[in-house]
Amino acid sequence: MVPRETDPPAVRFSDFLGQEAVRERWEKVRRYFFLRESTYDMSNRCNLRCEGCYYYEGEKQFAVENGQVEAWRGLMRGEKERGITYVVLAGAEPSLVPELLAVCYGEMPLGSIATNGFRKIPESVGYKIHISVWGNDETSYRVRKAKDLLKKQVGNYREDPRAVFVYTFTRENIGEVYEVAERLVGEGCKLTFNVFSSPVGYRGPLRHDEGSLLRARGAMLELLERYPEQVLFSAYNAVAHTHPKSLHELYSCQYPRQNRSQDLGLGRSFRQYRTDLRWDRTVACCVPDTDCGDCRHYAAGSAVVTARLFRHAGELETFKAWLDYVDTYLAVWVMGYPKGENLCREPVNPPLVN
Ligand code: SF4
Ligand code: SF4
Repeated sequence: MVPRETDPPAVRFSDFLGQEAVRERWEKVRRYFFLRESTYDMSNRCNLRCEGCYYYEGEKQFAVENGQVEAWRGLMRGEKERGITYVVLAGAEPSLVPELLAVCYGEMPLGSIATNGFRKIPESVGYKIHISVWGNDETSYRVRKAKDLLKKQVGNYREDPRAVFVYTFTRENIGEVYEVAERLVGEGCKLTFNVFSSPVGYRGPLRHDEGSLLRARGAMLELLERYPEQVLFSAYNAVAHTHPKSLHELYSCQYPRQNRSQDLGLGRSFRQYRTDLRWDRTVACCVPDTDCGDCRHYAAGSAVVTARLFRHAGELETFKAWLDYVDTYLAVWVMGYPKGENLCREPVNPPLVN
């Protein structure tokens, strides 16, 4: 996560830093500007089969699994050499290959794992763990074919400092978030929000429309007010991820799939490895086979929004909102990083490109 725009801010940045709270937050987040991420499909198998899963779209699902511990060790060492400092381990389902997770952690200490939470990842793997929640148990059973999924997830990760429960808002599950959040908070769990982003070609019932995005935004803001300690989010996160325009339309996505530059930022460093340890620049992003015109994914925002520092540095409130976004991102993705109190509680509009 490094601000990567080349144009300088139009106003005196130092004026903003004259405010103590703003300066402190800036100093807090800028210590992590060294993060350079790539993502890795750890397995092409999954113990669930969810409607609207982007993994089982496109070609990546057919890559052969390379389960060789030494091959993964070699990959991680090579990644370090080319400057990668943060790994996102995803899949299909990473918990099915714990020996590979251990190898990655042994080589690369910073990272996160995206899991459905059905099977517990050993505590010796000290990455952040993002557990996907798509509604209450009834909805999970219908959409993910998993019985008592939330109960299982909470049983595995209650009060685990690695765990963040990621509630994905679909068009259908907005009202359920209140009971799910209450249950998670009651169990001592932290949560954040994601917005369902359709795989290419998906036109099913989970896809958002403007009305459902607005309702999701309302629920996010209400829960943020209600549980400020346990909900890792900010007003600006809510705005950015529920805007009628996608993240790509708002911020111009920097991942290689949308950014063919091999010289700058994510276009230069980011790779998305498949289970056979190959990668393809033309399709590389953190959520491959997602429709860019519908992309509001939390993982995409963690790079796409944070990279736009200068665009947010024209107004104080917008800069505060960006700091909140980055602070949220770090609290969700980096072990031991504590979320601060949000600096901007009002939803501000994303700055338009000149
Ligand atoms: S748990 Fe994740 S990878 Fe597995 S089917 Fe569901 S969305 Fe896809
Ligand atoms: S799906 Fe999202 S993150 Fe991926 S290239 Fe498109 S806009 Fe970027």
